[in-house]
Amino acid sequence: MTAQTMEFKAEIKQLLDLMIHSLYSHKEIFLREVISNASDAIDKARYESLTNTDIITMSGPWKIKITPDKDKGTLTISDNGIGMTQEEIIEALGTIAHSGTKQFLSAIQNKDVKNSPELIGQFGVGFYSSFMVADRVTVVTRKAGNLGNKGTRWESTADGSFTVDEVEKTSPGTDVILHIKDDEKKYLDEWEIRTVIRKYSDYIEYPIVMDVEREQESTLEKDRKVTVREEETLNSQKAIWLRDKAEITGSEYNEFYKHISHDFHDPLRVIHYRAEGTSEFTCLLYLPAKAPMDIFYKDYRIGPTLYVKRVQIMDHCEQLLPVYLRFVKGVVDSSDLPLNVSREMLQNNRQVEIIKNNVTKKVLDTLGDMKKNEPEAYLGFYREFGKVLKEGIHYDFSKREPIADILLFSSTKSVDGGLRSLQEYLDAMKPGQEEIYYITASSLSEAAGSPYLEVFRDKDYEVLIMTDEIDDFIFNAFEFKGKKLKSATRGEVSLDNGGREEAQKQYGKLMEVIKGQLTDDVKDVRLSGRLKESPCCLVSDEGDLDPNMEKLLKAMGQDVPSRKRILEINPSHELFSVLNGIFERDGEGDMLKEYISLLYDQALLLEGSKPRNPLLFARHVSKLMVDQAKKTQAG
Ligand code: ADP
Repeated sequence: MTAQTMEFKAEIKQLLDLMIHSLYSHKEIFLREVISNASDAIDKARYESLTNTDIITMSGPWKIKITPDKDKGTLTISDNGIGMTQEEIIEALGTIAHSGTKQFLSAIQNKDVKNSPELIGQFGVGFYSSFMVADRVTVVTRKAGNLGNKGTRWESTADGSFTVDEVEKTSPGTDVILHIKDDEKKYLDEWEIRTVIRKYSDYIEYPIVMDVEREQESTLEKDRKVTVREEETLNSQKAIWLRDKAEITGSEYNEFYKHISHDFHDPLRVIHYRAEGTSEFTCLLYLPAKAPMDIFYKDYRIGPTLYVKRVQIMDHCEQLLPVYLRFVKGVVDSSDLPLNVSREMLQNNRQVEIIKNNVTKKVLDTLGDMKKNEPEAYLGFYREFGKVLKEGIHYDFSKREPIADILLFSSTKSVDGGLRSLQEYLDAMKPGQEEIYYITASSLSEAAGSPYLEVFRDKDYEVLIMTDEIDDFIFNAFEFKGKKLKSATRGEVSLDNGGREEAQKQYGKLMEVIKGQLTDDVKDVRLSGRLKESPCCLVSDEGDLDPNMEKLLKAMGQDVPSRKRILEINPSHELFSVLNGIFERDGEGDMLKEYISLLYDQALLLEGSKPRNPLLFARHVSKLMVDQAKKTQAG
């Protein structure tokens, strides 16, 4: 069969271009990336071998071998892992851009990589980083479990295309052969290779071996030295989570995090512990520093990697973590589960439930400690993941309290965009205040100027400001330490009842007229307990959907019946005595009609909506301006 030439996908071309021209000074990370792929491949083969014994007999002991060849100028990284079929390698290394690639490209979109090449190192862009040190890369691979000696050779000089070819390969696994560039030849030195592996890949569970030459005393002739070639293991190979915490350095923890998470930032926190008792397991969990872009996508994969007695069983074991902690990454290694456990078996498994509860508690405790002792770090965490965490209030009844304790909110009393906890809110409540008030708004500035908060400002009550669409859904029936959360934009607010009866008597008829005219738009007209300066506002009825939530559901294409709202008027506003005057003088004339219409449009504007008919509204306002101007001139 002759070699077949194929084009790289556009995104990969772009990435390769960046790699070739990169001025990144720590090009050594290519080795970490290639070794990491080899280790993943062995994980997969080892897992398969649990059910397919052919694999283990064909593959021999798991290992990754590094072979530098100074004469040929090549560095070969071989593994006896799962390998790839021809279709798989075409897809994996050429036609499908992996999520890592996409993330990298979008992160650098507006940045000049040549001037900030450190981005490459932070990211770890996988296999393609080998083009930083190699001008040609050959991959020879054979899928484990496939009989016969047929494998595939993939090769590219990163010029926009690659070739694939059928070749002989006697054992399963993958050889990645890097044809090292002239000015990167140091990567063929034994010393350099050792250093890089110790730095980045020490924790890899499988032996990373290399043939090394050593001088030793000859056994035949005394005092004569001979040179022998021996395979030496270069990494300590300890599963990091099973090591003693005291012996693990911060950078070892960080490297392992990057290996499992494909994140390019250091993690924010490491949670490493061993549980003993009814269930024995070890957890090495991480809180990331930055939220991944896809954390709100449906297909976001959650859960730590599950090991049973050091054998990797599955990545993303979602049964081990509640959805609202989906930002947590890491490893759980259980001593109690059977090795042949499958995803189906994990459902309703008692051991799994125990681990999940334990992990959930541990993560929430860690967050609680952080909030108390390192408020700055916690704030950083919360800005990234608070929106995810608070889903727990809705979905995990049993953990409502510890979650509520660590929630933070913007509020009318938080200065400089800071955030407040519910406890801080309770501590600052005014005498006689019975409820925790919140307002949903699309932004802090919208909330700050909102007419709905006039009476709260007047009474100096704090109001929490909620800007995430799901907030109202989560908090509308929530109680914190016996105090209900109440929306400032819904239902009646009756903080100030002075002079109400009198106003009702004075404006009762006028309100009936307004209600009659706006019957298609509102379900009631009533006196407002929340307005101080503005003339009117629209509020939802107690059980109705929050307007933000309504917008969200509509945006998601749901059929939400528009519910009429209630027009609240401020009887102390001069406008009403004027309107009442017109009504008493002329009855329901054109002028009153026009003013009522303007009143309603104003209420819409005040809540951030558009007037019903902007053209008509503008015409009305212009006419008023002209009338007013004429009057002034005449006067
Ligand atoms: P990532 O490792 O982030 O998925 P890479 O670009 O490094 O991205 O690799 C792309 C894919 O190529 C891997 O997901 C894997 O399927 C395949 N691959 C790479 N190296 C190997 C290997 N040594 N053995 C088997 N498959 C591999």
